[in-house]
Amino acid sequence: MPSKPPMLSKSRFIAGLQCPLRLWHQIYNSRLAAEVSPAQQAIFDMGHDVGRAATRRYPQGILIDEDHLHHPQAVESTRKAMEGMFSPAVFEAAFVHDGIRVRVDILERSGWGKWNLIEVKSSTSVKEVHVPDVAVQYHVLRGLGVRVEKAGILHLNNQYVYDGRDLDLGQLFLFSDLTEEILEQQEEVLRRVNQLKEVLAADSPPAIQPSRHCWNPYLCEFWDHCTAGMPEYWIINLNGITRRKLRELEALGVKDIRDIPEEFSLNALQARIRTCLIEGKEFIDPGLTDELGRVEYPIHFLDFETVGPAIPRYPHTRPFQTIPFQWSDYLLHADGALEHREYLCAENKDSREEFARTLLEALGEKGSIFIYTSYEKDVISSLAEALPLYRERLLPLLDRFKDLHALIRRYFYHPQFHGSFSLKDVLPALVPSMKYDRLAIQEGSMASLQYLRMLDPATPSAERDKIKRDLLTYCGHDTLGMVKIREEMLKRLSLSCTP
Ligand code: SF4
Repeated sequence: MPSKPPMLSKSRFIAGLQCPLRLWHQIYNSRLAAEVSPAQQAIFDMGHDVGRAATRRYPQGILIDEDHLHHPQAVESTRKAMEGMFSPAVFEAAFVHDGIRVRVDILERSGWGKWNLIEVKSSTSVKEVHVPDVAVQYHVLRGLGVRVEKAGILHLNNQYVYDGRDLDLGQLFLFSDLTEEILEQQEEVLRRVNQLKEVLAADSPPAIQPSRHCWNPYLCEFWDHCTAGMPEYWIINLNGITRRKLRELEALGVKDIRDIPEEFSLNALQARIRTCLIEGKEFIDPGLTDELGRVEYPIHFLDFETVGPAIPRYPHTRPFQTIPFQWSDYLLHADGALEHREYLCAENKDSREEFARTLLEALGEKGSIFIYTSYEKDVISSLAEALPLYRERLLPLLDRFKDLHALIRRYFYHPQFHGSFSLKDVLPALVPSMKYDRLAIQEGSMASLQYLRMLDPATPSAERDKIKRDLLTYCGHDTLGMVKIREEMLKRLSLSCTP
């Protein structure tokens, strides 16, 4: 540990509020952090895109481009930029005070000698964590004597509809003024800053055990390190466990679900999970027989992939509008024959109309449609709203859907689900040959990210072809997985897969 405690920064302050141990590790043990995943990187990149779009609201603004390794130089450049008479804004304005370094996204000139402190966020509303984020910046600026008139968040406006021409930056963003809350928080900011400085000046890390706070407001990068010694059936993975119950169990010294005392109050699902784990056996409720039997052939197994760009790309879409770009449908006929149909929009265009048309052709007017979670229902409902010409044919699909996820959750449990009913956990537990780890794309957020890379003209064509194949493989894996899960359920109930 250095003799002089290191500086805080805005992000270190937020990390420290989440967990002082996280702050400690960031400074003294950063090698223990997990690598940034492609999905996380995509979120960071999206934030940068939104930040760049926000600065285009001030064409004469000055960017302070020295990076964090050159903070003193950035502070000096900021001072000069603020002295200039004509610039309406300074971007990435750098300041240091009270042992804290900050970069202000946008410092907007507000009359003579006054400024607005603007933090840009790629969300569509203000979140709880945004308040201390702005409050600590305000603390620094006020300490330096900068006259801040307003402080708040510039976020995306989810009511803005892109017309397909130039983005209307005045409409795309909304400013939420947090000045009052920020002023109220100043004493608390000072208290927490001093507390975190004490943490950093201590000889040893704070003794903090991993728990729910590790995901809130952000997944901590030291999760793997901190949880390495936790039991396989750790209580935190008990489905739906509340924060209060978790605290009660921790106070009893219980870490493993199997050690939860019999008399400890759990809901029916949690009690079932505990029993399954103690007995090391699956649970199946015979009520599943009726549910699986109430189907009309041919049976479809359907999955969608979608993308939701923060900044709208296509006419008549809003920020984060869901654009479905891919479907996969396995079709099981009454004679046991299995067919596969699929669609993937490989062009950079609004795929919704083509998606709906091809899907309706594939699904026809007969047959039950298995889905996994209600996400596909939501997509169909929003397509029906966006495409009046298809509405009459899309809405009846909702009555044909059968949610396999809801059925499993209600009627079945396997110890290897590890408390999760996600397809990514359920499928490998029931069909070990269908693990996700051998797929290039293993989850929906990765599919969206890769899809955008496939559309990017800068991506080499061989790579675009590979992404297309990977997307088709991934979506097909999910739908074939549903076919196999149903087979496994029927096997356990000693029922045939066809009528
Ligand atoms: S994993 Fe949890 S306990 Fe460990 S440093 Fe991160 S937030 Fe703190």
